[in-house]
Amino acid sequence: MNFLLLLSSLFLTNPIDSLKTPFEKSGGKQSATYQECIAYYKQLSSFSNEVKVLQYGTTSIGKPLNLVVVSKEAISKSSEVNRNNKAVLIINNAIHPGEPDGVDACMMLARDLVMKKEMQPLLEHVVLLIIPVYNISGALNRSCCSRANQDGPEESGFRGTIQNLDLNRDFIKNDAAETFSFENIFTEWKPDWFVDTHVSDGADYQYTMTYIATQHNKLQPLLADYEQKILVPYMNAEMIKKNFEMSPYVNEIKESPDSGIVEFLESPKFSTGYASLFNCIGFVTETHMLKPFAQRVHSTYAFLNCWMQKANDDYKQIRLLHQKADDAVKQQQLFEMNYKPDFTSVTTIPFKGYEAEHKPSDVTGAPRLFYNRDKPFTKQIPFFNTFIPTEEIQKPIAYIIPQYSKKLISISQNNGVLMQEISKDTVMKVEVYYITDYKSTDHPYESHYMHHSVTVMKDTQMIRLYAGDVMVKVNQPTNKFIVETLEPQSSDGFFAWNYFDGVLAQKEYFSDYVWEDKAFQLLQSDAQLKNLFEQEKKNNPDFIKTPAMQLDFIYKHSQYFENSYNRYPVVRVVNF
Ligand SMILES: [Zn+2]
Repeated sequence: MNFLLLLSSLFLTNPIDSLKTPFEKSGGKQSATYQECIAYYKQLSSFSNEVKVLQYGTTSIGKPLNLVVVSKEAISKSSEVNRNNKAVLIINNAIHPGEPDGVDACMMLARDLVMKKEMQPLLEHVVLLIIPVYNISGALNRSCCSRANQDGPEESGFRGTIQNLDLNRDFIKNDAAETFSFENIFTEWKPDWFVDTHVSDGADYQYTMTYIATQHNKLQPLLADYEQKILVPYMNAEMIKKNFEMSPYVNEIKESPDSGIVEFLESPKFSTGYASLFNCIGFVTETHMLKPFAQRVHSTYAFLNCWMQKANDDYKQIRLLHQKADDAVKQQQLFEMNYKPDFTSVTTIPFKGYEAEHKPSDVTGAPRLFYNRDKPFTKQIPFFNTFIPTEEIQKPIAYIIPQYSKKLISISQNNGVLMQEISKDTVMKVEVYYITDYKSTDHPYESHYMHHSVTVMKDTQMIRLYAGDVMVKVNQPTNKFIVETLEPQSSDGFFAWNYFDGVLAQKEYFSDYVWEDKAFQLLQSDAQLKNLFEQEKKNNPDFIKTPAMQLDFIYKHSQYFENSYNRYPVVRVVNF
C-alpha cells in the first residue's frame, strides 16, 4: 500500500468507491471504452505502485499497445522478475472487441488484487500481465449491434481491426502491427500461463462459462499431463464452488450438442495455439452469448481468480515444468503437426443443455431449430478430445533462410529465435523440398489465398548460399515455433501464408517447333528418359492424345528445365 492509498483509506469512506469501473457504475450494463479502460489503469497505478502501465510497440492505428503489470514488487521490467519465486501469467482481452467481458473483469481484478486484503496473497508467487485492450482499432469502432445474438453490453467494439483482420488468426503471418507487438511482449516476459478472453457463438445450453484448454496432444507431454490431470479438474471444481459450473467449449459435431462435442483445435494461428509453441499452457474463456453481460463478466472474473489461485499455489511446479519442457523441446528430434480429431477415441462428459427441437419458421416457413429452455437436461454426451498428427517431421540440424525473406526473419527474431548470418558465399549440400501439390483458398482468407493440402518431395542438392543468408539451428527452446513455421507442409506455416509464392511460377519455357528436334534427340540418346516417357504413355491416356504434354514431359525431365521451379527456398542442413 503506498502513501496515497493510505491517505485515501484514512480520509475517504472506501477507496474502492472512487475506483468503480464503468461496468460497476452502470449496474453491469456497460463495458468500458478503450479510453476509459486505459485511464482507469493509469488511475489505479497512481493509487498503487503494484500496478504499472507499460507501452509495447505500436498498433495498426499508431497507438501503442498497453501492458498492465500487477505485482507485489512493483515490477516494470521482465528482468526484475525472480523466476525461481514467481510464475508469470498473461491475460489478453478484446482480441475480439465485440466480446469485451475480459476487459471489464480484468479492470476489477487488478483493482481488487491491490486493494482488497484478502486478494493480496494471490500476488505472492504470481506476476500478472494484462493486455487491457488488444484490438484497439476494433474497440474504437464501437456500436450497439455488431454482435447480433449477444445479450449486452449496451455498446461494444467490432471483431475486425481497421485492416479488417481477425487478430486471432494472425499469430504466425503477422499482417498486423498488433501481432508483432504482442509477440514482443510474449518473448520478453515468457509467460507460464495464458488466458485469452472471448464470448461464444453457437448453441444454447445452461452454462455461463465454457473453456478451451490448450489441446493436450499438442502440448509437451509434461505440461499436457499437468494440464489434464491437475489444472483442468481444479478449474472445473473451483468454478462449481463459485456457482459457475463450466463445460468444455461447445463445438458441436451435429446440429446440437447432444450428438457430442469435439475439442476446438487451436492451431498456431490462434492465440493459445501460438502460446503452446512456447510451452505456455493456455485457456480460452468463452462465456455464453445468451447470458446477460453482467453474469458473463462475473464468471470471467471468477475464472481468472481461480486460475491465479492455482498458479500461486503451484508456482514451483509450474516453473519446474516450464523449464523441463523447454529443455525437452531443445533436445526433441521428432515434431508432430497438422493435428486432426481422432474420432475413434471418445470419452463422455456430463452436459447441462436444453432440448433441441424444431418448429416452422415464422420467417421462411421452413423447419427451424430452437432450444427449449423449459426442457433443461443433464446428459452424458460424447466428448472427442484426442487429436492425432498428420505430419511428423524429423528436425534438421539447422534451416537456412534466404536473406531476402526479411519479414519472416524479423518475425522469427521477435519470437526469440536465435540465428546467425552466413559469413561468405558458399555451396552446401542440403536437403530441399519440392512442392509437388497444393491447394489454395478460392477467396481471400484473412488477406491471403492461403495454401493447404501441401505435398512435397525431398531431394539432396548442392545449393548456392550467400553471405548474409541466415542459419537457424534447431537446438533452441523455440524449436516448435521454428519447425512449425518453416516446414512447408505446416498448416499454419509461412509457406501456407504465401511467404514463398515466388517459387510457384515457372520462369522459362520452350517453343514447340524448336523443341521437337531437341526432344527427339534426347529420347534417342537417353535410354532412361525414353523408358520414363514410354511408361507415361502406357499409364496416362491423356498423355498419348496430347502432344503438348509429351513435349513438356521431356522438357521437364531434361537439363534445360529450371530446377528452382517449386523448390522451397528454406533449406535443411542435415549434416555439416
Ligand atoms: Zn472471440
